[in-house]
Amino acid sequence: ISNREDVQLSFNNISFQYEEGADILHNINLNLKPNEKVTFVGRTGVGKTTLFKLIMGLLKPTKGSITINGVDVYNIPNSEKRKIFGYVDQSFHVIKGTVADQISLQDGSITREQAEKALDFVGLKDYVESLEYGMDTIVNSDNLFSQGQKQLLAIARAIVTNPPILLLDEVTANLDSITEEKIVSVLKKASHSHTILSISHRLSSMIASDTVVILEHGRIKNAGSPEVL
Ligand code: ATP
Repeated sequence: ISNREDVQLSFNNISFQYEEGADILHNINLNLKPNEKVTFVGRTGVGKTTLFKLIMGLLKPTKGSITINGVDVYNIPNSEKRKIFGYVDQSFHVIKGTVADQISLQDGSITREQAEKALDFVGLKDYVESLEYGMDTIVNSDNLFSQGQKQLLAIARAIVTNPPILLLDEVTANLDSITEEKIVSVLKKASHSHTILSISHRLSSMIASDTVVILEHGRIKNAGSPEVL
């Protein structure tokens, strides 16, 4: 995918069930425009997280396909996935290593400059520079970063490869309102140039959505602009 203006994600009549279970998702059809912001809303267990796994090609639909510009996401090699999808969920998983490693996940193709840029983007550059060894500081204690800073690091990790599609799974669920505001303002900055899919329990979403999709019993109950719903 060379030009993000052309990135088009489509759900082509997909259904999905875990082995022997009932359909979790049923006949989902959606065509997103490049850089569209979509929020999926639905009750716990309706299948929102499953849908994200399908989008990233980690699960295969029982029926139908999800495509990016016509390419089945299930056929995208794992090594390519970080360049296409940035995924953020509610928790940040610290890996063994330095601050820079937290962002690159020790992927040698990510340069120091890219990691620095990502830190800057999420507003953590000054804080990291204040640490004794800066980006080379080993993260071996749990209190080097606050919970909110960890969530910002998670975003830095997701955007460092400059992927055209961001997937946000309840990213502000466990945060206080001040931290939430910080996260939202960073995501707003990213929203101009990314297709953003987010999952939320609430209709009032964190970043302005073009489309809200309400899932119920595995189906799209309603999809449209937030004003209409
Ligand atoms: P939440 O809002 O709580 O995260 P969700 O809408 O994201 O919920 P999913 O996590 O996608 O829902 O789960 C949808 C359904 O699929 C649930 O009934 C869940 O129990 C079931 N499920 C999830 N993962 C598996 C699995 N690996 N094997 C079998 N069933 C699963």
